[in-house]
Amino acid sequence: MNEAEPNSFERELAERLQSLRQGNLYRELRTVHSPQAALIQMNGKPLLNFSSNDYLGLANHPEVKEAAIQATERYGAGAGASRLISGSLAPHQELEETLAAWKGTEAALSFVSGYAAALGTIRAILTKGDLIVLDRLVHASLVDAAFQCGARVRVFAHNDLDRLEDVLKSSQSKGSAGMGNRLKFQDSPGVRAPRKRVLIVTESLYSMDGDFAPLREITALKERYGAWLLVDEAHAGGLYGPNRRGMAEALGVADRIEVHMGTLGKAVGSSGGYICGSRALVDYLINSARSFIFSTAPVPAAAGAAKAGVRLIHSDTGACRVEQLWERVRQVGRAFPGLAGKKEQPFPSAIIPIILGEESEAVHVSARLRDHGVFVPAIRYPTVARGQARLRLSLSASHSPANIQTLNEALDGALGRGGR
Ligand SMILES: *Cc1c(COP(=O)(O)O)cnc(C)c1O
Repeated sequence: MNEAEPNSFERELAERLQSLRQGNLYRELRTVHSPQAALIQMNGKPLLNFSSNDYLGLANHPEVKEAAIQATERYGAGAGASRLISGSLAPHQELEETLAAWKGTEAALSFVSGYAAALGTIRAILTKGDLIVLDRLVHASLVDAAFQCGARVRVFAHNDLDRLEDVLKSSQSKGSAGMGNRLKFQDSPGVRAPRKRVLIVTESLYSMDGDFAPLREITALKERYGAWLLVDEAHAGGLYGPNRRGMAEALGVADRIEVHMGTLGKAVGSSGGYICGSRALVDYLINSARSFIFSTAPVPAAAGAAKAGVRLIHSDTGACRVEQLWERVRQVGRAFPGLAGKKEQPFPSAIIPIILGEESEAVHVSARLRDHGVFVPAIRYPTVARGQARLRLSLSASHSPANIQTLNEALDGALGRGGR
């Protein structure tokens, strides 16, 4: 190719990148030459890390690392093929037994990522003619799955139970769309058309706002209207409830939820995604979740580490680390009552958003904090809505009180006392 004259493909990409830069939406990778711990080496500079979702500091726990090494020694670096093709390696099976025992469900299935779990599961459960009802702020993996599954997509305002009920009500009054039409039940007098399937999808703790879904009320609504419920506990699994299963446990509604979803890459400290639920759900997903069937199994190291992470969460170590995490959250809250304690929340949250609005402002404040040796990422469109750019501060049990003190001083310099 002639370098002086880029073809239309390269030219168009260059234009798109330019417009991202102009909108302060351009993103680039920053190389880290250290583990993802409280202190990282980013682009050659030591920074206190307030960007990670490793809430309990398990990603660098000796037992978790050792489990990854042991799994690699015994089962190799790669998994070879999909589990349905080359046989299912023992570490995956053991992980799933550990997950089901932790979550108190009949069965569990692990995926290469939480993203893959969302995509494979929702596409397997729903089809054309069904209805999927999403909270407006659910994660991109759930949005993508919803638009790919063929069902009609309805979105309700964030955590707005009235709007959710409106959608459920209108779905009933419109009668049956899916199976009903196909089977022409509506033409036969006296034969009730099978209702179309309705799946409600919510996170339990929202990843960019750090606020909680009203899970009790959503569960009651889904029962009143005969819908099904998928709850993504990506940011809550490991942190809430007597067994730290997540918010569904903390709020006492776990047994009434059809599909529990989560990731192994956040509090668990490894990598991968999971679905927990009935034996039938898991058997069905093994047979029909395309992201499970048509993807090479996760590496043994990831499964081994995840199993160790789940075990630690389920043990006294998990309880201690969660307490330590809330102590760090309170330390930020005492310095910035305007931030951590802004909203009356039923539970503490390790995710503290600092909403700045303008994309450029978020980028500049994040850069100022980096100058003070503190890394808090700027979160911009399309991760959050336009004009809702923010810093997303996430705390970990691995932060020391001195780390938090440094953070508080840096925030004070960058934002002014009391947050904004
Ligand atoms: C991170 C995340 C996922 C995706 O999980 P991965 O394992 O990182 O692919 C899904 N849902 C939510 C809410 C998340 O925050």
